[in-house]
Amino acid sequence: MMHVDMLIIGGGISGLGMAWHCQKAGLSTRVLEQHAQVGGLIASRQQPEQTGDFWLELGAHSAFNSYQELLAIVADCQLQSLITPKKSPPFKFFKAGKLQSLLKQIYWFSLLRALPRLFSLSKENLSVQDYYTQIMGEKTYDALMQHAFNAVLCQDARHFPADLLFRKRARARDTAKKFTFAAGMQHIARALAETLEKRGVLFHVETPVIRLEYRDHQFEITTADQRTFSSRFLTLATPVETAAQLLSFSFPSLATLLSQIKMATVHSVGVAVRKEEVRLPIVGGIIGADSPFYSVVSRDYLWDARYRGLTFHFKADFNDPLAQEQLIADLLGIKPSQFLWRDRKINQLPALTVDNLFDLAQITAQLQHLPLALIGNYFNGVSIEDCLVRTRGEFQRLQAQMGTLN
Ligand SMILES: Cc1cc2nc3c(=O)[nH]c(=O)nc-3n(C[C@H](O)[C@H](O)[C@H](O)COP(=O)(O)OP(=O)(O)OC[C@H]3O[C@@H](n4cnc5c(N)ncnc54)[C@H](O)[C@@H]3O)c2cc1C
Repeated sequence: MMHVDMLIIGGGISGLGMAWHCQKAGLSTRVLEQHAQVGGLIASRQQPEQTGDFWLELGAHSAFNSYQELLAIVADCQLQSLITPKKSPPFKFFKAGKLQSLLKQIYWFSLLRALPRLFSLSKENLSVQDYYTQIMGEKTYDALMQHAFNAVLCQDARHFPADLLFRKRARARDTAKKFTFAAGMQHIARALAETLEKRGVLFHVETPVIRLEYRDHQFEITTADQRTFSSRFLTLATPVETAAQLLSFSFPSLATLLSQIKMATVHSVGVAVRKEEVRLPIVGGIIGADSPFYSVVSRDYLWDARYRGLTFHFKADFNDPLAQEQLIADLLGIKPSQFLWRDRKINQLPALTVDNLFDLAQITAQLQHLPLALIGNYFNGVSIEDCLVRTRGEFQRLQAQMGTLN
């Protein structure tokens, strides 16, 4: 059996962040990822035979200069040259089959009356709906903001905890406010994995982990191809549902708490099209209101001479590929046969509720003395930076245990 200090299950940004911390601390580290590529919900796609190096995003699309954890890793790995500033074309609203301006959805009188509550109302233990109806007024929330939050979180965001959305953070003024990487967001995941591999971290892709056991102060995991690995410390950096399944054998009580957190599914469909054929004006994105999609993310933030790319994030029940493609074509003013290529991905995000905050507090208490780190987008919030903040916290907790064991 192959033994290391730290096994990390999951090669999304959380797992990669943990691998970076472990490598810096001199721990022998192994990352196991079920897919052929690292990145997880960071998923940039291209089809070179159709459109050369043009790419679009099926998952995360933006990083900000407030992502200080991410920027620190990028700097340490000397990958700053990949940072590519993004423009911010206007966002549109799609309602009753028509594109509309966002400003038209605002009820100014009730908004201005409600807004002073921003300075006195705490987000703590309030849902998105409870908090934002109070600071924006019900009318603006119903007409505009609920759809904007659904678009940001790719789910019905009404019951999501308000304080896990939009955290205030210091900005790195020497970096563009909003950015991506040279070949899209996944470029940084791949480049980071390459750098870490050169520094001695072991990566196993196409290696799903199917079983986890903890006995005699040692973790043992089994992969789908029946290999086994062991370690002193273990990090679960998978979606919450998988973490619950893997923990059910050795940590049933943690697994029960994790299984209280439900997942939201979104069907993401990206299309590349010839620029001159599309009727849709240049947009940053489209927020769907009472439509089959939560949002459309456009690639218009980076200029390309020939192509445009748009990714539609469809609601779980709108999953017929032909109907999806017809809707996309109608919105672009073309026929589906004019798509140069299309790609699909089923994305899942945690559908957290205010009640889950209690489960998360219990999980934190149970983890306290365990050599097990739980990281991912279901603790601090879903953004890349939220994930990396959680990762640093968990690494530091385990590092304190290492100090006492050495
Ligand atoms: C459509 C969409 C748009 C988004 N846009 C943004 C954005 O613009 N900016 C932003 O900051 N955030 C954005 N987010 C959120 C952010 O991308 C994610 O929350 C974050 O990337 C999650 O990272 P993670 O590593 O915690 O989880 P994941 O990315 O889910 O990674 C988990 C990894 O574990 C692997 N895995 C699962 N099970 C196993 C197993 N049994 N064995 C081995 N490996 C396994 C998976 O394959 C995956 O690679 C977006 C999310 C979505 C869905």
